[in-house]
Amino acid sequence: MTPDLLTQLALARAEIDRAEHRRDDESWWTSVHADPATKHLVLHRGQALVESTVSGVNLVLRHGRDVSNSGVRALLGVGPDDEAYVGVLLSDDDPRPEAAGDQQWIGLRECGADLDARDAGLFVAAAALANWHRAHPMCPRCGAATVPHQAGWSRRCPRDESQHFPRSDPAVIVLVTDDADRALLGRRVDWEQSFFSTFAGFVEAGESAEMTVHRELFEEAGVRVESLTYLGSQPWPFPASLMLGYRARLAATSPQARPDGVEIGEVRWFSREELAVACADGSVRVPPAVSIARRLIEDWFGAELEGAWSRP
Ligand SMILES: [Zn+2]
Repeated sequence: MTPDLLTQLALARAEIDRAEHRRDDESWWTSVHADPATKHLVLHRGQALVESTVSGVNLVLRHGRDVSNSGVRALLGVGPDDEAYVGVLLSDDDPRPEAAGDQQWIGLRECGADLDARDAGLFVAAAALANWHRAHPMCPRCGAATVPHQAGWSRRCPRDESQHFPRSDPAVIVLVTDDADRALLGRRVDWEQSFFSTFAGFVEAGESAEMTVHRELFEEAGVRVESLTYLGSQPWPFPASLMLGYRARLAATSPQARPDGVEIGEVRWFSREELAVACADGSVRVPPAVSIARRLIEDWFGAELEGAWSRP
């Protein structure tokens, strides 16, 4: 295994203290909005403003006077100089603020691997919160409109006082190897012919992550696996997943791999040599560096690979 590939997952990096203990301090939260040191990250339809510098790509963080009053405000954290970072989560109907000069609006999938740890962490938290606020405007108990609470980290129902919190949906993602140390990759039915990735699926109600690994591999690829090893996780806020990465070995008694024909259109065993050649000539493309799927494949491969899909 190549440890650095899985300890530096693009969206599992962060630098800013989330300052959970300050979310209930309403007078502090009110003062943050007027503080000129506060930095605002504006999100609109899953995109943020970035600018390119000599060192890479940076988020554009704005002063309070430069952001509109619309949208949900969420505390993303507090920096080393006690400066607050605030997400301004605009609704889809809000106008998108103008991009100045060489700035551009871009999604987390497209820029997540190019951001530094501070900016990656800020963007991931803001995107996850924005998706949750957008999808949960009503109280699930009584149907009343809820309001943001705890510096944007919960919503409260004014009618029955119930409180609601953002959720992450766990999903497993698995790289399977056989006795010859080949890797099993699959192509979804709706993907281009050259796209291949690891197998993944949501953890169902009442299921452990390991049970999901066994179920998904048998459903999608017809194989039985054993010797599961958990390798790491990263949030995947599109809209609310938490990806749990595993390695598994093909069981000696497993049936032959075959695609289910419903979700998976093709399954293929790759040796390292076969995958290197196929990626170099473009006949196979693997997911982009922002995804844990890519890192699971490279962890097995032993090095970074060439080429990627245009979208994860
Ligand atoms: Zn309610």
